[in-house]
Amino acid sequence: MTEKQLQSTIQLLKVSKRIVIIGHKNPDGDAVGSCLGLYFFLKNRGYEVNVIMPNDYPDFLKWLPGSDEILQFERQHDAVVDTCQQADLIFTLDFNALNRTGGFGEVLESLDVPFIMIDHHPQPDEYAAVTYSDTSMSSTAEMVFHFIDYLDGLAELSPEIATNLYAGILTDTGSFRFPATSATTHQVIAQLIEAGANNSLIHQEIYDTQSPDRMKLLGVALNNMVLLPDYSAAYITLSQEELDRCQFKKGDTEGFVNYPLSIKGVVFSVIFIENKQEGIIKMSLRSKGNFSVNDFARNYFHGGGHTNAAGGRSSLSLEDTVKEFISILPSYKNALNHDS
Ligand code: 5GP
Ligand code: MN
Repeated sequence: MTEKQLQSTIQLLKVSKRIVIIGHKNPDGDAVGSCLGLYFFLKNRGYEVNVIMPNDYPDFLKWLPGSDEILQFERQHDAVVDTCQQADLIFTLDFNALNRTGGFGEVLESLDVPFIMIDHHPQPDEYAAVTYSDTSMSSTAEMVFHFIDYLDGLAELSPEIATNLYAGILTDTGSFRFPATSATTHQVIAQLIEAGANNSLIHQEIYDTQSPDRMKLLGVALNNMVLLPDYSAAYITLSQEELDRCQFKKGDTEGFVNYPLSIKGVVFSVIFIENKQEGIIKMSLRSKGNFSVNDFARNYFHGGGHTNAAGGRSSLSLEDTVKEFISILPSYKNALNHDS
């Protein structure tokens, strides 16, 4: 954060009483953890604070301190619009464009309220009075820690703040293994543990609370995996019928896309998940090394994200989406084989 951004932030906080904090659609651990971490920090400083998510988020995050307080745009439309209209200041966390909140974005665009963005995705839009954007950061939760530090608030870290920020960093770094995990990330983690984050318990709550159905779905997914050795790539499909058979619940497919990357030589992995209700195929894309799935998802599948983790969608059938995907690969053959 620059000195100018910090001074603007301090000024905005000085004249605000009611603050709203918003994460992206289909919130992940980083979105929920960073929003709730900031929530407790601001609440403890005396602000009236609300956390709003565009829609529901996975059960493995619902134990996080403060998660009971989260409002959902999809479920509590009127209360959410009202809360936003009364806000003096809105923080948007872990996303770089208002359309990343789905239909909620139109409400946000219509507001006459200053925004502060805290985010680590590339190519941020310019809607905020303060854009604290840093693509080198492991997670937005790590940025919230630094943000609290900028505001001289580290002495105010509570177990609630520490637990939420730890969970955000943990999930966005793939348990501290992705390249953006820096020495500073580990120093931040150390301070969060000192402030009361129970690291072992957080890992258990997030990774060891799965249902037998989810495990069965993983079996189906791995069985469906197709390797494309010519492109150092692999993909997985899950049809609506397969999801229904395993009683699919939100969050059940989280992390599935990473499995193919554990195969030697695979640097690009995609999962295609059919959603009959929305009439789309939801895609998650992951890579190792320099191959940019952010560019790939932006160019071909109405999505985006980071270099090594992105999302996208297609309105074709599952079969046709996979066909389209395979037809694009030859133009990336050199880039993909270079990275493997
Ligand atoms: P996931 O595959 O877990 O849905 O998303 C991976 C990363 O890509 C996350 O950082 C997420 O915020 C981002 N992402 C997912 N879908 C989209 C999308 O449609 N547009 C953009 N710009 N980013 C996305
Ligand atoms: Mn993130």
